[in-house]
Amino acid sequence: MNLPFQRKLIVLFIFLFFLLLLIQGYLVYGLKISFLLSSLISLGIVTPLAYMILRYFTQPIREMMDRVKRLTGSKSDRDAHVYSGDELGRLSKSIGEMGTQLQKKIDEVSKERDYLQTILKGMVEGVLVVDERGRILMVNDALRKILSLSSEVVDKAPLEAIRNAELEEAIREAIQERKSTAFELIFPLSGGKTLEVNVVGISPSPEEIGQEGEKIKGAIAVFHDISRLKELEKIRQDFVANVSHELRTPLTTIKGYTETLLEGALKEEVAPQFLQVIQKHVDRLTKIVEDLLTLSKIESKEFYLKWERLPLSGLIDDVLDFIKEAVEKRKISISRDIIPSSLEVMGDRNYLEQILINLIDNAIKYGRQGGRIIVSAVRKNQSEVEISVSDNGIGIPKEDLPRIFERFYRVDKGRSQELGGTGLGLSIVKHLIQAHRGRVWAESQFGEGSTFYFTLPFHI
Ligand code: ADP
Repeated sequence: MNLPFQRKLIVLFIFLFFLLLLIQGYLVYGLKISFLLSSLISLGIVTPLAYMILRYFTQPIREMMDRVKRLTGSKSDRDAHVYSGDELGRLSKSIGEMGTQLQKKIDEVSKERDYLQTILKGMVEGVLVVDERGRILMVNDALRKILSLSSEVVDKAPLEAIRNAELEEAIREAIQERKSTAFELIFPLSGGKTLEVNVVGISPSPEEIGQEGEKIKGAIAVFHDISRLKELEKIRQDFVANVSHELRTPLTTIKGYTETLLEGALKEEVAPQFLQVIQKHVDRLTKIVEDLLTLSKIESKEFYLKWERLPLSGLIDDVLDFIKEAVEKRKISISRDIIPSSLEVMGDRNYLEQILINLIDNAIKYGRQGGRIIVSAVRKNQSEVEISVSDNGIGIPKEDLPRIFERFYRVDKGRSQELGGTGLGLSIVKHLIQAHRGRVWAESQFGEGSTFYFTLPFHI
């Protein structure tokens, strides 16, 4: 019966009233039972009936309550039965459908939110989102790390949380003037990091434009940490400046002497002397270019090592043989100390020779006339062999020690140039040892001597 609910109740009431009268009449006039007892009996019959019918009528209400509870709690019940076709039944059905739709939307939104959160979490760029009042809505983990933000920043003004007026102004312009800005910032608070910042306003969606006009809803600032890029750029600029400087000195000398020779000195007595100076500087230029080429080769993608197992004693003997002349010239005594004497390493023979030549050559150059050099090798542990080259020469001041492996870094530039140094020897050594998966370091007592240590793999 698809009657409206109100009418159902009236019909039920009339039906029960007449039923009550009928039973009561039958009991009083038919069975001659007293009025009081017949009233009790007829009420006893009608009340459960009324209860059952009412329960049937109110079934949709209970169902609606159930659904609302489920909606606010967990999932909606798509398969709930509707026992009635009246307004309440239809309402219950609509609520059920609405619940299903709502749940679908909630699922979609939370899926999107999860995606967004995963993206924000995985991003290396820092992200800051502010609302239309310019208050922080969220910052991602990357930004917390980049700016070392420890405290809670949500609902604070960016100026208060990040302490940068330029950023605050860019956010204000994005919200009030719809202006997108890109700029670089140096953050002293985060260890002088250089950040590239892009700020844009958040435009309202088409539905929101209808309701609230085209008012900007907030702004997003994306922070890209370009400190490393800047550092590399600086290294590159310094390197070009250093190379140019290193090349200019010998070139200027060569140019000066050749001009003098061409202007007439060629026929004079000093000519051979001039030519010797030219030759010395040409050699120097050649050495710089060779060292630069070696460095660029080591850093290139094509660089590889020919790994082989090498007995250290043979390797060191070959190197000592190669530099015999220079050692004799400076009257230096060289000893080698390999424990155990049969010790072997893994490495590329040519490059290991180059490492040892560079280190021993420095020990000769910066060692004393008549001094001593010790080349030692010892098996450090299961996987490493430690090799050292020690001299009792001029030593290295403490403050210079951390920088000697840098390109063109020299403690005493004049002395290095005088001895034919390019300032690239130790840099080559460091790169080659790193290519061998080893470590290199130096210890020195200024005025007393230096020891250069490096490790090589025992196995690979
Ligand atoms: P260079 O061509 O000038 O020798 P290196 O890169 O080989 O360049 O060394 C860098 C600097 O480190 C040298 O100029 C020198 O000042 C210092 N140095 C290197 N080895 C020694 C050593 N054994 N004793 C003292 N100083 C050294």
